Amino acid sequence: MTDAPLMIVKDLVKEFPHKRAGGRSETMRAVNGVSFHIRRGETLALVGESGSGKTTLARAAAMLHPPTSGSVVFEGREIATLKRRSLKGARKRMQMIFQDPYASLNPRLPVSAIIAEPLAIHSLGNRAERRAEALRLAQSVGLKAQDLDRYPHQFSGGQRQRIAIARALALKPALIFADEPVSALDVSIQSQILNLLRDLREEYGPAFLFIGHDLAVVRHFADRVAVMYMGRIVEEAASETLFNTPRHPYARALIAAAPRIGQGKRAPGAMRGAARDIPSPFDPPPGCPFHPRCPMAEDICKTTPPELELVEPGHQAACHFT
Ligand code: SF4
Repeated sequence: MTDAPLMIVKDLVKEFPHKRAGGRSETMRAVNGVSFHIRRGETLALVGESGSGKTTLARAAAMLHPPTSGSVVFEGREIATLKRRSLKGARKRMQMIFQDPYASLNPRLPVSAIIAEPLAIHSLGNRAERRAEALRLAQSVGLKAQDLDRYPHQFSGGQRQRIAIARALALKPALIFADEPVSALDVSIQSQILNLLRDLREEYGPAFLFIGHDLAVVRHFADRVAVMYMGRIVEEAASETLFNTPRHPYARALIAAAPRIGQGKRAPGAMRGAARDIPSPFDPPPGCPFHPRCPMAEDICKTTPPELELVEPGHQAACHFT
């Protein structure tokens, strides 16, 4: 792993227009001025409750939903301002693995064509070479040669995710966006797929932007973790630092609320202070957006938004009282 960042995201904003009943237009800011970087070969995880902006941020950084404003530098090149056609080169180096493998696989194509599809899109190799590469990739994710001629509906969820992973690896990407890649799978299959991703990370060396809600999984898979709340990163640190010494009250509540590994139970009193619903993203609270739920909130929190600042080397948090 080198120190040169593979991707540098700065002040990224993603807004969605919305029409209310009665015709009034409003804007929902799903990602609100987010900055982060990913180094080569590194895994950065995004965590937070549903609706915190994790998936929107990943899709904006991957240019699947072009950002409203901000900068995304990938392999030294600004891609946020590129037109669709000019993005093809960057897209080749970034791949996605989605939560629902069935929805992301074309049901009419055999596995050989699905895995080789990225090679065909980028006109790499002839048909026989692409099939040979599809076989190699299929075997590297634990599928068999005879699986190449079968169709997605003939596989279990775990096997379908293996197909999706093989397809994501076809172009030897530098960065893989993995959006909850195991959360739709049975618990027994989840660890198999995570072990596979870990092995492939060792073998092929891609960086990951990994979205997860299971903090036990995130803790063991990620090098660094960024905690999102209402479209912003509120804390970011190396994985062990964040899980051992979280500084932001929201991160602390999130970790305390996570079922303990191997026990399936929440810590007593977890999320007590943060149990109220997330405020509407159409009408975010002034000041610190977490203040209506925060057990530590003071008057300043209601008026002044805290900046994301270093609390120690490599550890940032956005709270007036860290
Ligand atoms: Fe809580 Fe205030 Fe810190 Fe926000 S700034 S997390 S409201 S203590």
